[in-house]
Amino acid sequence: MRERSRDLFERSLALIPGGVNSPVRAFASVGGTPVFFREGRGARLTDVDGHEYIDYVGSWGPLILGHAHPEVVAAVTAAAQKGLSFGAPTELELEMAELLTRALPSLEQVRLVSSGTEAVMSALRLARGFTGRSLLVKFEGCYHGHSDFLLVKAGSGALTFGHPTSAGVPPELAAQTLVLPYNDPAAVVEVFARHPDQIAGIVLEPIAGNMNFVRPSMEFLRTLREQCTKHGALLVFDEVMTGFRVGAGSAQGLFGITPDLTTLGKVIGGGMPVGAFGGRRDVMAKLAPLGPVYQAGTLSGNPVAVSAGLATLKRVLEPGFFDKLGRATKSLVEGLVREAKAAGIPFSGDSEGAMFGLFFRASPPASFAEVMQSDREAFNRFFHAMLDRGVYLAPSAYEAGFVSSAHGPADFEATFAAARQAFAAPRSS
Ligand SMILES: *Cc1c(COP(=O)(O)O)cnc(C)c1O
Repeated sequence: MRERSRDLFERSLALIPGGVNSPVRAFASVGGTPVFFREGRGARLTDVDGHEYIDYVGSWGPLILGHAHPEVVAAVTAAAQKGLSFGAPTELELEMAELLTRALPSLEQVRLVSSGTEAVMSALRLARGFTGRSLLVKFEGCYHGHSDFLLVKAGSGALTFGHPTSAGVPPELAAQTLVLPYNDPAAVVEVFARHPDQIAGIVLEPIAGNMNFVRPSMEFLRTLREQCTKHGALLVFDEVMTGFRVGAGSAQGLFGITPDLTTLGKVIGGGMPVGAFGGRRDVMAKLAPLGPVYQAGTLSGNPVAVSAGLATLKRVLEPGFFDKLGRATKSLVEGLVREAKAAGIPFSGDSEGAMFGLFFRASPPASFAEVMQSDREAFNRFFHAMLDRGVYLAPSAYEAGFVSSAHGPADFEATFAAARQAFAAPRSS
């Protein structure tokens, strides 16, 4: 059915490890051959065999205006014609800093980088440099990019030091990161009691989107804020995914919790490589060239990438943008739950702004352990049945989904019709 995709993948396997430049693209979780795309326009993708798909991946989050939005393309084109990169300050970077600090009051200062990984890595080095402490705390199921000290999982037993989840990460380094269960306020209190004056910071996804979609409880967030303040640790919201995706004020605005540092990526680049980290002025003042914490980037803040981000954010920050998109996303999730219910399949869903989760279990999960209880085989069958009917979902049961402002009622109706057939498809198909 997708002959050319299969052929390109075969050839890629010989030259690119696993045939892909980022592992989740390989369809390892759902099985089968990845789809090679040739074009994206609005809510739709076209593959190299000429099939069309309604896209709920959006390049894993950045494309909140849909593919090839005319204003974004125009901004990028205009910037490119004036020079791709100077390695010197430009007015566009100032404009981006003004826009970000205005939208997120917790950002007193901000620095641009070129990826989410870089943003989180830099923010946590800064947290360590500012506090003079080494230990970091993260939560099970949260992803913060692929830097060494974040590729860790909990050891056996609660509150033990982290173990590497990747070869090549020294155990000594992983042991500097403590891994706690998400949504467990008591574990947060306990970790500070066990390691007084040693924890530099706590990093979390303020809505988790890398273990499907998991909401934080308000008690969890309040406990994090109180405990970090009490113990002199920095609270770092990794909003690389949620930033300008769940609302104009991002997750911190939604929940009314002020982090010390925030990391951004995805939407702020509108499909181009832009990341950012920022927060308290006294903390940011520790960064080079002002302070002793080193951080740099040859292409950081380059005009082409920043132009794409600015054009995107200008639309996203228009009044009413998220009211409309949030309602649309909710209606998508409700429609899919309705179709599953009609087919007698245990299924639930949740959404915030333009980010959603679909779960093959009766109710939305609150932790990594609960996410793991969902029916992965059922998801994998559903994924392929939807793909064959022209709907492109993330190729893993453990990823959030995304809607763009280019998605309309016709896209949703077509998605529901595909889901009706997919849910009814026999198990063996
Ligand atoms: C995507 C993501 C990252 C990593 O960003 P890259 O641009 O892929 O390096 C970090 N944190 C979160 C929460 C993310 O969703």
